[in-house]
Amino acid sequence: MNMVSGSFRRPEIGPRGLYLHIPFCQTKCGYCDFYSVAVSDLPTLPLIKAVARELANRLADDPGPITTVFVGGGTPTVLATAELAELMKPLKIIVDRNRPAEFTVEANPGTVDDSKLDLLAEAGVDRISMGAQSFHRSELEALERIHAPDDIPKGVKTCRKHGVVRINLDLIFGIPGQTLANWRESLRRTIYLGVEHVACYGLTYEPGTPLTTRRERGLIVPCDDELEAEMYLAAMDDLEAAGYEQYEISNFARPGQRCLHNLIYWRNQPYIGVGPSAAGYLDGVRYKNVSSIEGYVHAIERDGHAVVESEKLTGAALAGETAMLRLRLNDGLVFDEFLRRTGIDVRDGFAKSIARYTEKAWLTVTERGIALTRAGRLMADTVIADFLAEVSASSRIAP
Ligand code: SF4
Repeated sequence: MNMVSGSFRRPEIGPRGLYLHIPFCQTKCGYCDFYSVAVSDLPTLPLIKAVARELANRLADDPGPITTVFVGGGTPTVLATAELAELMKPLKIIVDRNRPAEFTVEANPGTVDDSKLDLLAEAGVDRISMGAQSFHRSELEALERIHAPDDIPKGVKTCRKHGVVRINLDLIFGIPGQTLANWRESLRRTIYLGVEHVACYGLTYEPGTPLTTRRERGLIVPCDDELEAEMYLAAMDDLEAAGYEQYEISNFARPGQRCLHNLIYWRNQPYIGVGPSAAGYLDGVRYKNVSSIEGYVHAIERDGHAVVESEKLTGAALAGETAMLRLRLNDGLVFDEFLRRTGIDVRDGFAKSIARYTEKAWLTVTERGIALTRAGRLMADTVIADFLAEVSASSRIAP
């Protein structure tokens, strides 16, 4: 313990997240490129045991408080109740030891029932993030989602019944065949449910997914770019009018309801990642586990870990990654903090990009830092790509 000026000073404890990846879903959606498999394809218990073992090893190596827990995937709630209970056992110990500020589990409509919600609430889960995506049957079918629109309010009601105080709904816009009116109707029904948090993502065509293959074969007509931009602007308008603050490119929250776990990612703060394909960031090192359930279970049994990639982030890589993540936040990039973190003055390291995009009114510059404007959020990919290119081309910054 440090003693300063005759008083005891606690060591500073910053946020530190824990992410568990559970790679099982009911079926695989056509647009998804997350690592997950249909739950009927493989036994689930060996994976749950391996996850518990990796978690114990990680916490033995990196003890210290966990401030947020996020169990995602995949669809963790697709597990049978007994197996979900097994998964929650080690997490309940963490919760009992130091109550995290937030404990989220991802769920899909149609996969939550009384018994599962009961045990999640008992384990300390206080936030459910639900993949609603759309309130229109034809759009859910285009995405190959297996739930029906009515499953969404039913799922929200079940969560509330079991005392879940914070609910996020994910929505997708830019779905083939989606109209602006239908998108606004999905937003309206989301707002009507009174959830605390909404995430709106534009549909992306990831390489190798069935949806992308259908597009390449001309079997679907993607949403027009202009219409997709109108949908994004409508989300900003309608959610803000309903009392949600936009705090990140895709995320909106009622006051005090921002996702603390995701803020750790966007602020490039440390987190432990556990499970197949999970990534983590500890002591400045980014690591990634193997993306295979069998490979993961085998590696954990043999070595106690399943890391296949790791990289110490320094110089241009650290600056680029921190800028890319921070620019997603409405708070943007804060000069002092960035300098402390990376040793680089934002105004020097990104001078050309700042000049280019302030002129277009896509960026604002204040004494505190820089941030995307409303128009800039529409062009975020372009702006961020240029920031990354500038920092990696700089001869003054070590690679
Ligand atoms: S439910 Fe989510 S994680 Fe699972 S396949 Fe669909 S999009 Fe991917």
